[in-house]
Amino acid sequence: MTTELHGQIALITGSTSGIGLAIASALHAAGARVVLNGLGDPAAVMALRLGLPWQGGPADFAAADLSDPAQTVAMIEQTQASIGPIDILVNNAGIQHTARIEAFAPAHWDRILAVNLSASFHSMRAVLPSMQSRGRGRIINIASVHGLVASVDKCAYVAAKHALIGLTKVAALENAQSGITCNAICPGWVLTPLVEQQIAARAKLQQCDAATAARELLSEKEPSLRFTRAADIAAMVLFLAGESAANITGSAYTLDGGWTAR
Ligand code: NAD
Repeated sequence: MTTELHGQIALITGSTSGIGLAIASALHAAGARVVLNGLGDPAAVMALRLGLPWQGGPADFAAADLSDPAQTVAMIEQTQASIGPIDILVNNAGIQHTARIEAFAPAHWDRILAVNLSASFHSMRAVLPSMQSRGRGRIINIASVHGLVASVDKCAYVAAKHALIGLTKVAALENAQSGITCNAICPGWVLTPLVEQQIAARAKLQQCDAATAARELLSEKEPSLRFTRAADIAAMVLFLAGESAANITGSAYTLDGGWTAR
């Protein structure tokens, strides 16, 4: 356990599951006061909060639905008003839907763009003035290899993640001399509920078991033939949040087992 981030306030969107929860756990272990966000059953969310305590009480929770810009802005404003200035913002919440463009329901397009892209704009827009006034801040956007390359059936996700990397670069340039860094992380396959759904759909379509479907999923894209662990993404977040990364900004880091190397 390191305490490099002791007392820093870290808001992690989409931290009731998967990668976001792993990031929140790592930041908590490094001494940060974490603020969770995400959807989920209130009792299950409370259990997660109790697992990441701050001063004996449950971790803070900002209950915003990030498809709604007003709730996204309120999440930042209320966190800063009731807890304190946010030092580390991790824009992680994301959703997926797969279909070819001609069959892609516009409602899915709108929701994926809202959660996977626009929410990051609204949260950054709301948090930047306070970071700028203090001359420090870390913004880490969880993009994807699909921010760098495309796959069929994922038009909204690929468009949103490419744009998120562009947004990351603009924020980096605009704040390059203000003690604020903004970077993106681009995972390949990580075994979380988001990917488990895709494996289950593939297993059903091909009438095979989940292990076979998972192997095929990996062999199509990821030369290492292994999933990146959510904890490995969290370790990259810890590095980017720390002092050694003070001069890293506008970058997009892949953890993809060679996916984008070919
Ligand atoms: P997940 O489904 O396990 O978790 C998603 C989280 O986002 C949950 O906490 C969920 O409640 C939250 N969320 C969804 N919609 C929301 C909304 N409207 N408002 C607030 N919270 C909302 O997914 P994951 O695999 O952990 O994905 C996390 C991020 O990592 C996403 O941005 C995803 O695109 C990205 N990513 C995942 C993989 C992978 O292989 N799993 C690969 C590359 C990138």
